[in-house]
Amino acid sequence: MSRFQETDSILSWGRVVRASHMAARPAWRDELPGLLTEATSDGRSVLALGLGRSYGETGLNPGGAVIDMTGLDRIIAFDPESRILRAEAGLSLGAILEVIVPHGLFLPVTPGTRFVTLGGAVANDVHGKNHHAHGTLGRWVRGLGLLRSDGTRHLLGPDDTTGLFAATIGGLGLTGLIEWVEIELIQIASAMIDAETVPFEGLDGFFELASESSEAFDYTVSWIDCLASGPSLGRGLFSRGRHSPAGPLRAAMGAPGPSMPIDLPGFVLNAASIRAFNALYLWNGRRRSGTSRMPYTPFFYPLDAIGNWNRMYGRRGMYQYQSVVPLAVAADATRAMLQAIAEAGQGSFLAVLKTFGDKASPGLMSFPQPGTTLALDFPNRGDETLRLLARLDSIVAEAGGRLYPAKDGRIPPALFRSGYPDWERFAAHVDPHVSSLFWRRMGA
Ligand SMILES: Cc1cc2nc3c(=O)[nH]c(=O)nc-3n(C[C@H](O)[C@H](O)[C@H](O)COP(=O)(O)OP(=O)(O)OC[C@H]3O[C@@H](n4cnc5c(N)ncnc54)[C@H](O)[C@@H]3O)c2cc1C
Repeated sequence: MSRFQETDSILSWGRVVRASHMAARPAWRDELPGLLTEATSDGRSVLALGLGRSYGETGLNPGGAVIDMTGLDRIIAFDPESRILRAEAGLSLGAILEVIVPHGLFLPVTPGTRFVTLGGAVANDVHGKNHHAHGTLGRWVRGLGLLRSDGTRHLLGPDDTTGLFAATIGGLGLTGLIEWVEIELIQIASAMIDAETVPFEGLDGFFELASESSEAFDYTVSWIDCLASGPSLGRGLFSRGRHSPAGPLRAAMGAPGPSMPIDLPGFVLNAASIRAFNALYLWNGRRRSGTSRMPYTPFFYPLDAIGNWNRMYGRRGMYQYQSVVPLAVAADATRAMLQAIAEAGQGSFLAVLKTFGDKASPGLMSFPQPGTTLALDFPNRGDETLRLLARLDSIVAEAGGRLYPAKDGRIPPALFRSGYPDWERFAAHVDPHVSSLFWRRMGA
């Protein structure tokens, strides 16, 4: 009997792309070679899945098979003295924190949600609020086990000379199944974060705060009111923080908070409601500006407080759009993008601006590059939204920037190729039986 079941329940996090898949969820690593053979024996392609927190099409393989890795969630080795942890790829970052925080250790890099798997985080070479200080997670990977569809197992590390390690870090799951990952952790004195919120009135204020904060703060990020225009264009709240020297070493446990029970009807999210939300958020941020000491969860993972928050965007879902543009043109390009959004009246609740540093990743296809990154969520309003995103694409292309495939669901192939000039070197390492909707759409 086949261990793959047909399912319609695999969606992108943005919920725009819905597709049918053959899916299997192994519980043990020794099941993987047999599942790969079964998945590919009739010419189908296969793809590994984590916790499905990628917004677009990189984690989908419609018409093909997927292997859900979340059942492979064991710690294989952990030595608090050497700060090295080796775990199966399906273990979530949240579960890792539960184990390591009481030992005075923390993840060297974490994205804005803890509900992602180690394998998914490596396959997207995730970055966090400390990119300027620590670079991407891939810089902290000391080793990984990769299983290819021909049944070969590869032990890869930063000293690999074949190019397969570099292709797998940020390789969008296309080089094979990551079975386990070994990472280096960082030391912390407490689970608390000393945080500070500083309001700024326009983009110049953001750039001043970013350069003033990068040496003194481990973590920096800002929220932008993307519907503000004229002299207020680019106003927002700058958030910066560092691990606190004092406080308990207590980990946050378990599941997300209360869950969004239904898809909100589309009319709830319109320009007026987003404008009202942004005004309120800014007002509240200004009112509460200053320093505070808080647990790490609300600082790093504010959206995790509401389970399935993506259902807020209704059945039509949403697009996330994350770009990075080089520092020399960052102010002009960011201003042009914010102007285009304000003119289109298609605001976003979540508009995040951050400066990436120059710590290079070992990954061939890593998204971060030195410059400024802007991330936005847009409710899917069909052609109207796609037209705005195409306008943003042209600004990013002209600025010599790139988009983040994990966040997008519609990167034009030409923009992908211009943004990732190493893509052909990468393509040489793609497993011939592994594929995704994203990879097929790129024409590769
Ligand atoms: C609220 C929110 C905030 C976020 N913030 C950030 C952020 O700050 N920085 C950032 O970089 N990203 C961020 N992301 C994106 C998220 O971190 C990445 O998409 C992450 O890789 C998702 O991991 P996952 O386990 O859900 O993987 P999935 O989304 O299921 O898969 C991601 C990719 O990894 C591949 N993959 C998964 N497991 C394996 C495996 N074992 N072997 C090989 N390939 C595998 C899949 O094929 C797919 O290509 C955010 C997402 C959300 C929802």
